[in-house]
Amino acid sequence: MKKLFTLALAAIGSFYFGQGFTQIYKDRADLVLQSNLQTYNADLAAKGIRYVGGATPNSTYLANNNAAVNYIKDKLITFGYTDSDIQMHNIGTVSKPYYNLILTKTGTVNSDTYVIIGAHFDSVVAGVGANDNLSGVAAIMEAARILRTIDTEYSMKFIFFNAEENGLVGSTKYVSEIVTNNTPTTADDMKIKIMFNLDMIGGNKTLTNNTITCEADKVGNTTSGTVSTNDAASLAFTNDLIQYVGLYSDITGVLSNAYSSDYMPFENKGYVITGFYERMTNTSTGAIVEPNPTYHKATDNISNISYPYLLQTTKAALGALQHFAVADKSTVVLGASEATDLKDVVVYPNPAKNILNIKVPNTQKFEIRLMDATGKMIIVDKDKTQLDVSRIKNGVYYLILKTAKQSLMESVIINN
Ligand SMILES: [Zn+2]
Repeated sequence: MKKLFTLALAAIGSFYFGQGFTQIYKDRADLVLQSNLQTYNADLAAKGIRYVGGATPNSTYLANNNAAVNYIKDKLITFGYTDSDIQMHNIGTVSKPYYNLILTKTGTVNSDTYVIIGAHFDSVVAGVGANDNLSGVAAIMEAARILRTIDTEYSMKFIFFNAEENGLVGSTKYVSEIVTNNTPTTADDMKIKIMFNLDMIGGNKTLTNNTITCEADKVGNTTSGTVSTNDAASLAFTNDLIQYVGLYSDITGVLSNAYSSDYMPFENKGYVITGFYERMTNTSTGAIVEPNPTYHKATDNISNISYPYLLQTTKAALGALQHFAVADKSTVVLGASEATDLKDVVVYPNPAKNILNIKVPNTQKFEIRLMDATGKMIIVDKDKTQLDVSRIKNGVYYLILKTAKQSLMESVIINN
């Protein structure tokens, strides 16, 4: 599908879809690849992550847990982040360390205030937790990949929490050791605009998966939270979240309560929280199925997740995240009369074999980038009408063409 990143062309089509809709945010949400989510999910599940335990962790589980956190770190590096963007927060001991992993991206305007998206990567003893919660982890990894080069007004933290299943140990230590020790917070504590938690967002492939629970603090006064001054703000963010689900995915958001996951230590200090939690229905009766039949069981593995659903929940999360962090909306835009460079671009054949032809009728000057699904640049060139793709691995790629005025991205399949 061809996407032109210009207001001028958006104006020709459907310029305004509804309250808050931002075309460039949708274009980015549409960069989420189900194949990437499946890869992260399967790779992490294969590490055999289990319950870390208390003071004397099982050494195999501990090794698996550390292998998982290193996998996440390595992936972030391949996305283009550097070691200095990544903090390893030891919540174990010196001799038996295990870590929360925190990726920080600095904002352009409100750099001292954070939008946090978090998900725990540990599991229970019974199983590897492909859904609980490597589904949330995969979503955050994909969001981090896509947003790496995108400016946001607020700073962001993508947090992979450990030891959630021990009783929110990773998030509790993160809050008490790094965020604040004060209740309510004081001026020198970390400023957090919103803490958005993802816990179990992969659904179940034997059920109907077309809704997601959007969790607010103390809806109907049912929650394990302790502070009430943040409830109204949590509800406002969560109502916005429901709206973003509708704008950036094919599923529907449903309001419910926040409880017993990694947002709670933040809530207990007075911070504003929201969250995603899967919602499934029985395909024949329409009755809500709660919890997931695989919950905390050996069957919580990669074969029981609904990956099409995880694709939608991740798109919804990425749409919301861009609003929360106020992601860049500028798209190399000039006035309508000038923005014609990349009109009528033809890229062919698609799928391409050996040679990919690029026809740009309105200019001879343009940059060419061919990016793979992980965001890695495969070809960087300019002003070419033919690319040799004969030695490129088969798969889906993104061709990005840029002129002084516009940029365009098109997905290209290479099938040599
Ligand atoms: Zn969980």
